[in-house]
Amino acid sequence: MIPAQFDYVAPQSVEDALTALAEAGDDAKVLAGGQSLLPILRLRMNTPETIIDLGRIPALREVSEDGDAVVIGAMATHDEIRHHPLVRDHARLLSSALAEVADPQVRHRGTLGGALVHADPAGDAGAPALALDAEMVIAGPNGTRTVTADDFFVGLFESAVGEDELLVQVRVPKHTDWGGHYEKFVRTAQQWSIVAVAATIRVDGGTIADARVALTNMGSTPLRARSVEQALIGQAPSPEVVRQAAASAADGTEPPSDLNGAADYRQHLAGVLTRRAVLAAAEV
Ligand SMILES: Cc1cc2nc3c(=O)[nH]c(=O)nc-3n(C[C@H](O)[C@H](O)[C@H](O)COP(=O)(O)OP(=O)(O)OC[C@H]3O[C@@H](n4cnc5c(N)ncnc54)[C@H](O)[C@@H]3O)c2cc1C
Repeated sequence: MIPAQFDYVAPQSVEDALTALAEAGDDAKVLAGGQSLLPILRLRMNTPETIIDLGRIPALREVSEDGDAVVIGAMATHDEIRHHPLVRDHARLLSSALAEVADPQVRHRGTLGGALVHADPAGDAGAPALALDAEMVIAGPNGTRTVTADDFFVGLFESAVGEDELLVQVRVPKHTDWGGHYEKFVRTAQQWSIVAVAATIRVDGGTIADARVALTNMGSTPLRARSVEQALIGQAPSPEVVRQAAASAADGTEPPSDLNGAADYRQHLAGVLTRRAVLAAAEV
């Protein structure tokens, strides 16, 4: 189908984009890579009067470092981020996860900011953002505010970014000496995650000193698997220790049931994928 008619604006600064948003009010929609928004417009599930394209704001596409953080512009694409040396050196988990998003075409158009704001529970960006303790920098009419990944995912397809706001940056604390791995389970190549697990682990002197584990598509938002993390910290990263810790991965989760799998199957998968993700992250 062809989208309903809309006005198109392409501001060249964040300030101009915020002004355009304020002027257009509730009937505006922000366009990033368009990989989620365009299908929605074509199906006429949403018919905004104004589209505000962020694609002409070069500053939003930069990846840089600021002290202990890697700073990723909201409009950097999945492909740019996953190959960026700063991300590969300091946030290996994110690089691993974005390699699993869809296919090369989608990865070259889709952006980290768009994926996070879209907040699809099956999306592959949310769990790594949680596991890496990322912070989201949000610009609005009253200035900028920073929201932790823990507070960013509000509900199903709902993030902390308001109608009059823009996600401008994602700040990822450097995890330089940490291993990282994203284990995604799909039935067919390039599918959305049925379940996936993000793990980042720091091993020091043969012991797991730090562990962060987060789950994709095990509820309406990405979830931290804190019981797994607690069971891992202080232990040697042996296959048996990891197997026992991973057994609690699905505790307290309420995953969906659909044609790709029942909820109890997803809970089983969460344990299996957590074991694989942690072993790979710890390089066992
Ligand atoms: C065939 C196909 C397969 C896919 N498979 C996967 C997959 O396996 N895993 C996966 O994770 N994703 C997958 N995706 C989605 C892909 O990752 C998208 O890139 C992502 O969901 C949206 O990013 P985008 O930049 O295209 O955002 P858009 O589609 O442009 O925008 C998405 C939403 O976010 C809002 N928005 C965008 N940027 C901002 C911003 N900076 N500030 C405020 N609001 C903003 C928009 O208004 C819109 O509501 C797939 C997409 C397609 C088409």
